Amino acid sequence: MDYDAVVIGAGVGGCAAGAALAGAGKKVLVLERMGEVGGRCSTSTKDGFKMDTGSHVIYQAGYGPFLQALKRVNKENDVDFYYIQKMMLRVGDRSLKMNIGKVMDTMEKILPSFVLKMMGMTTPVMEMMSNMMMPITYFFDKFTIRSLLAPVIPFKPVQNVIDWLSCTMYGTGFDRTPMGELMRTLFQAFGPMTKSMSEGNMFMGYVKGGLAEYPKALCRGIEEHGGEVRTGVDVKKILVENGKVTGVELETGEVIKTNLVISNGGIKETVKNLVGEDKFDKKYVDYIKSLKNGICGWCLRLALDEPFVDYDFILSIPDKDNQELVHQVWDDHIVIDRVSGLMATSPSRMDPTLAPPGKQSVIVIGPHSFEPKENWPKWEEKAFEAIECVFPGISDHVMWHDFLTPTTYLALGEEESPAVGIAQCMGQAGADRPSSESPIEGLYYVGAEAGKYAFGVATEMATMSGLNCADYLIRQERTPSPIQKIRNMIRPPRAI
Ligand SMILES: Cc1cc2nc3c(=O)[nH]c(=O)nc-3n(C[C@H](O)[C@H](O)[C@H](O)COP(=O)(O)OP(=O)(O)OC[C@H]3O[C@@H](n4cnc5c(N)ncnc54)[C@H](O)[C@@H]3O)c2cc1C
Repeated sequence: MDYDAVVIGAGVGGCAAGAALAGAGKKVLVLERMGEVGGRCSTSTKDGFKMDTGSHVIYQAGYGPFLQALKRVNKENDVDFYYIQKMMLRVGDRSLKMNIGKVMDTMEKILPSFVLKMMGMTTPVMEMMSNMMMPITYFFDKFTIRSLLAPVIPFKPVQNVIDWLSCTMYGTGFDRTPMGELMRTLFQAFGPMTKSMSEGNMFMGYVKGGLAEYPKALCRGIEEHGGEVRTGVDVKKILVENGKVTGVELETGEVIKTNLVISNGGIKETVKNLVGEDKFDKKYVDYIKSLKNGICGWCLRLALDEPFVDYDFILSIPDKDNQELVHQVWDDHIVIDRVSGLMATSPSRMDPTLAPPGKQSVIVIGPHSFEPKENWPKWEEKAFEAIECVFPGISDHVMWHDFLTPTTYLALGEEESPAVGIAQCMGQAGADRPSSESPIEGLYYVGAEAGKYAFGVATEMATMSGLNCADYLIRQERTPSPIQKIRNMIRPPRAI
């Protein structure tokens, strides 16, 4: 065999799986069709501005799965995280401005240092508590967030915020997302949150140098552990003989032999095109086809002639009924006539090296349906109108802009290019998430598309899926110790 494992796609899920395997001594090859690694978490440069392609803000930043993945290849010190300082939450015309950085500073000033130290010391206890509470969350996968929260929080604007956040975090509205998914997202943050606060940091953050610095660091780690990362390489086929993976064939015709392929190229795409439906039984193909993609997203990138936006992070949500919009966009694919809220960041405010001196970069995103190319110019105008409502006059400062649409993201390979991946809706979250393990021996899927028990917010979930899959494969190879054997009898190892 040429390699112990071939990873198709260098999105965050593929990079995390590759890093965990390389860190465990496996000879790994990562193949990426684009010129850069990162997929929807990549960063590109134009006229001195470094702009991200999709993701902007990461939940748990340097305290969660990102850190765990980096540690696998000793790259935890290679990535510098920034923590959100100033943010604005706008619902309809009302806005709430928060200077979290100041709150953190004040907290550091008024709390004696031993209190902060003690807070940090409680991190392992909080982690233990969150682990203990995790199993309970699976019970709550039977109920939607809405069914449990709406009766106790009858205020429409608050419901709209939760609904909108559910769309952007899980790819579907709060009347479709299981309560268990929200509980897992919150519970797992217990430990990291106490640690981040004890260190004077907010919890949510950004990667200095642009988000792509995270997958890039993982790829450097893979290479330093004897692996290889090749970009600009398109995988055409996953080769399967007698129900087992034997290798991959590239667009160039080159064949690479391996018994283990981990696909980060989308679960539907992998089954339908990279392997071929005829290699699976019909029931499995029907199941894969029935999986519901999450909502899509557009991304307006603005290069400004001067610093104009004084916030790191902005969330603007309509006060009209968000659920109605989500249903129209997601279920009925109706072309709606207004932008259903937006999220914006200023990368250069968080890291001034991301724009030329005296200039500012602003990235605005919004959830949307998958629409044909010809509809997008209209949406570009509406996206401008929407950001103009939040920051009147911003358009006058735009030196150049570009508008990325779900049609742009199609190049990354996933059918209908959902922003997050396969939606974390009822029947597709927690234990019900599509398994990383396929019916074909040696074929696995990772990313925001698959992985039982992978959960959380987009990049975080994709990373977790990659790590879980690699850990499962490493575990399978090891002979269990007598204690592990007993433990496995009491509680069989979880599927992935
Ligand atoms: C506009 C927008 C905004 C977002 N905002 C956020 C945010 O603020 N926070 C957050 O956490 N998440 C956000 N997300 C979601 C997040 O970016 C994704 O969920 C996450 O990056 C998905 O990672 P992944 O590993 O599943 O796959 P991907 O990023 O899709 O990577 C898959 C990779 O595989 C490659 N590939 C596919 N097929 C082949 C092939 N045949 N051969 C070779 N290579 C192949 C692709 O080129 C790609 O690089 C956003 C997404 C979008 C679109």
